[in-house]
Amino acid sequence: MPTYNAWFECIDPTCNERFPLTEVVYRCPRCEKLLKVEHEIEALKHRSGAAWMRVFDDRYMRTNFPYGSGVWGKKEWVYPHIDDESIVSTYEGGSNLFMADRFGELIGLDDLWIKQCGNSHTGSFKDLGMTVLVSAVKEMIRQGATIQAVICASTGDTSASLAAYCAAAGIPAVVLLPKNKISDAQLVQPLANGAHTLALDTDFDGCMEIVQKLSADTRFYLANSINPLRIEGQKTISVEIVQQDDWQVPDWIIVPSGNLGNITAIGLGFLMMRELGLINTLPRLVAAQAESANPLYLSYKNGFTDFVPTQADFTQATAIQIGNPVSAPRAVPILQTFDGIVEQASEHELSQAAAMADKTGLFSCPQTGVALAVVKKLAEGGVIHQNEKVIVISTATGLKFTDFKRGYHQGVLPEVLPEFANQPVELKGDYKSVTSAISGLIN
Ligand SMILES: *Cc1c(COP(=O)(O)O)cnc(C)c1O
Ligand SMILES: [Zn+2]
Repeated sequence: MPTYNAWFECIDPTCNERFPLTEVVYRCPRCEKLLKVEHEIEALKHRSGAAWMRVFDDRYMRTNFPYGSGVWGKKEWVYPHIDDESIVSTYEGGSNLFMADRFGELIGLDDLWIKQCGNSHTGSFKDLGMTVLVSAVKEMIRQGATIQAVICASTGDTSASLAAYCAAAGIPAVVLLPKNKISDAQLVQPLANGAHTLALDTDFDGCMEIVQKLSADTRFYLANSINPLRIEGQKTISVEIVQQDDWQVPDWIIVPSGNLGNITAIGLGFLMMRELGLINTLPRLVAAQAESANPLYLSYKNGFTDFVPTQADFTQATAIQIGNPVSAPRAVPILQTFDGIVEQASEHELSQAAAMADKTGLFSCPQTGVALAVVKKLAEGGVIHQNEKVIVISTATGLKFTDFKRGYHQGVLPEVLPEFANQPVELKGDYKSVTSAISGLIN
């Protein structure tokens, strides 16, 4: 068996700076650009594409720790040389593809699927990246590093995930949240897991600025997706989507997009599968943004000639209320490679799409609502064709966003006209009231 290796490398191909994955480094010290994780591709090529598929299929959802995890089943492609003893896993990944035939029919698509990444330990796709990052920290600590806490800024799901993985590993976590800008469930999650939870009187971009300054002190390890270890874990979403369809590549993937780590990761996963011979076509990628937090959309509209951070205004899709996405320099080349599209959705559109999908059996979070509104727009506009295979990435469970749901059905969300509002019928506790109410409701 060849020895596989991976390391941090500057994203600028002319720069070439490299660091071990156990080094505390987030930007290239020479040119200040972002880092990526690079793999020893020649060693990985010793196995054929078909052989990799067999390896991944043999491990998928089975019991052999840690390889039954959707992330660690692809360990050689993620963090090959980490000691299995360092791995902190909650058996993440392996989330189902929901067959959205009824929603698809409503918007004119015959082959629409929802990748349910929110069906996960802490209820969002963030677990896929966090298992890698926290495992890396545990490996560093076992090797003698003095890391006192793992820190992050969050729109709610990163902090929930970091808190849970750190609690499982017995490592302290400090999370910075924008006060009153995340859901109750998302605030309760890190509190329950014992994280030091700081609610700041600013927005996510403000929290991010502070946490980046804090991370100059190497005792505080930064868990935001500026850290490419997160992206390595999220990359497995692509492998899993293809694997779940007997290694067939879909035509389109729609991704709710905020800080732009996830769309980057999904692109990288496909490129790696192509390079290693598992697939030979690529899907088209669509980044879906909320109209009130749309810097990528604006950049796309000017042909990506420049990227101007914006002030993110309020949106129900709080997890993507980001005006200055840290991974923009990673995501733009990915979108260009994948013939990508950026589309946006208004508050009305995202809320309507989520409610419409819920009526067909889903329970969509508002971020997924943005992606569902975008897929509807692209299908109705003839950009996506009826027979094409389309995957929408659902990034979190709707159960974290009950205020959004209640607000929609009560008709109190600003700018939203709730066509699918549904309210409980309140009755006296007697049989006759129930039967007469039911006969009024059915037919
Ligand atoms: C983090 C998050 C996103 C955005 O992902 P990025 O990688 O920041 O673009 C979307 N939806 C949910 C629910 C999230 O938690
Ligand atoms: Zn550099």
